[in-house]
This record gives sequence, C-alpha cells and structure tokens, in this order.
Amino acid sequence: MEITHIEHIGIAVKSIEESLPYWEGVLGLKCYAVEEVKDQKVKTAFFMVGQTKIELLESTDPEGPIGKFIEKKGEGIHHIAFATKNIEGALEEAASKGIQLIDKSPRLGAEGLHIAFLHPKSTGGVLTELCENKQK
Ligand code: ZN
Repeated sequence: MEITHIEHIGIAVKSIEESLPYWEGVLGLKCYAVEEVKDQKVKTAFFMVGQTKIELLESTDPEGPIGKFIEKKGEGIHHIAFATKNIEGALEEAASKGIQLIDKSPRLGAEGLHIAFLHPKSTGGVLTELCENKQK
C-alpha cells in the first residue's frame, strides 16, 4: 500500500474538557475542532501538530468502543491512523496478506475521511486505522 504520513494518533480520554489543560495549557497546542461521531459513540477533539493530528476520543456511551476501551485499559493511546492513497486497494492488499480487517470496506469517519480499521490481533497489538481524504 502507499502510506504517505501519520494522519493522526487517537487517544482515549475520560473527558476532553479535563484534558485541555495538558494539551493546550502545557503543550501549547490549539484545539481547532470538536466533532461528535454518533455511530462510534464518541466525541472527538483535534489538534494539529505539523501534518499530523492528535485526536482525543471521549466516549458518549459506556457501551461504545471507547467506553469499553477505557474501562479495560484506562486512558491512553488508542490507535494510530495512517494516511494512504487508494484505501480500497490498501484494504484488499492487507486482507490478501493475512491481516484481519475490522472494516471490510471504508466508512465515513470524523472530518469526512474515509477510514477503515485493521484488527490489533494482526498488527502486533496496535489498533491501526487507514484513512484517505477523498476531498483533496
Ligand atoms: Zn482515528
């Protein structure tokens, strides 16, 4: 596949609001967008760091994926997202090389990106997201 850069790093937090003093107050980053992704049961907050973003993920439902993650593992790094060209082709290639896919075809994520996750069982424990910005 053709990965161009790290699009974002997803970090699970209990509360975006309570996380801001660190990300803004200490690191000096600026939150430029807050968006709710209903089908993922999360609220997201974005910070730009060069061409990479930090995506804070706050659960809106304890039964959602981030709610369950925090209950099991606590706050912390949740996933790494790579920007790729031709996400459909990238998924096909991953599947053909024995990688277990969480999303067999891309779906719409935050910021209108087309995204798909690879299962951490196949990636050395790193929940991996592929994303493609088709608006560019
Ligand atoms: Zn993500």
